[in-house]
Amino acid sequence: MYKIAVLPGDGIGPEVINEALKVLDVISKKFNVKFDVKEYAFGGIAIDKFGCPYPKETENACLNSDAVLLGAVGGYKWDILNGDKRPEAGLLALRKSLGVYANLRPATLFKPLKSASPLKDELLKDGLDILVVRELTGGMYFGPRGTEKIDGGFKAYDTEVYETAEIKRIAITAFETARKRNKKITSVDKANILDTSRLWRSIVNEISKDYPDVELNHMYVDNCAMQLIKDPSQFDIILTSNIFGDILSDEASQLTGSIGMLPSASLRGDKVGLYEPIHGSAPDIAGTKKANPLATILSVAMMLEYSFDMKDASNAIKEAVNKVLEDGYRTADLGKGKLVNTEEMGDKVAEYIGV
Ligand code: ATP
Ligand code: MG
Repeated sequence: MYKIAVLPGDGIGPEVINEALKVLDVISKKFNVKFDVKEYAFGGIAIDKFGCPYPKETENACLNSDAVLLGAVGGYKWDILNGDKRPEAGLLALRKSLGVYANLRPATLFKPLKSASPLKDELLKDGLDILVVRELTGGMYFGPRGTEKIDGGFKAYDTEVYETAEIKRIAITAFETARKRNKKITSVDKANILDTSRLWRSIVNEISKDYPDVELNHMYVDNCAMQLIKDPSQFDIILTSNIFGDILSDEASQLTGSIGMLPSASLRGDKVGLYEPIHGSAPDIAGTKKANPLATILSVAMMLEYSFDMKDASNAIKEAVNKVLEDGYRTADLGKGKLVNTEEMGDKVAEYIGV
């Protein structure tokens, strides 16, 4: 039996989580596997109830689970808070406490959504299936930073720091994942300028010697940003640092149409993982039943694949999603079709998986 800590969070979080749990329930029956699912307070709702975004009880539950499924956090109500008090601070604390250093963000175009992509048809004839492997717990987001007063104004700095061990482990994640995909990695850096990038490049080269079956090439980040638009079919896995990965995965995600479609997994080298849609709590549409639950449902598919080794069940979800889209069902963000609300979309996917 697998233990799953569920953190619905704020805004559309609880709405999309409901649909994901509906789908998990169907998977449980169809594949005859039991999941021990419990919900815990996290984000703004935890601030209201317990005074902090990541309460001890929630942390203990997460640390004792096989996987964590997260909706989204934040909302207008908590925007006046700052620093550690914000719901978003809970997110960084959650990732740090779980030690999930590898963020996997697939940018997959479901064929029926081709017209939602800004790319020309000819660039999408082979579809689009890129996986960004982003380092998540190091780099510029965690290096020394500060603001100082100087003559005539201020001086501010943020520091990019990487150590050998941090680069090694994320590179190993990418190479192991490449073996399960198309055995091709593009490592992205700015090695013509940055020392951290030169270290990154040399360590990735070193690790690649253990994976002679995986094709590796290097690309500067500015060129990569351009190539993603020019010819995305050249990419399979993009391996990169925290900040470059943040930017490039948002860019890649837009090529697939809607932010409401994109899942993510954050891993740490064993089977434990944190799974969440890449979108936020969307307070502008919370309560309107307009939220697209597919990103969260697809995050469950990633959980089945990476934490529970249930590749068949994972594929069953992805195939059902594709079929639902093929049959024309669309939440409002996905453009023209048979308009469905959040619950109806969840129901359709559950129905198409069947029992
Ligand atoms: P965060 O800072 O948490 O990333 P954000 O403010 O950047 O949040 P989102 O909450 O992701 O942004 O919302 C961006 C836009 O996308 C909003 O207009 C929102 O309504 C829309 N959106 C986000 N997720 C969905 C979804 N699942 N279905 C439909 N629309 C969505
Ligand atoms: Mg955002």
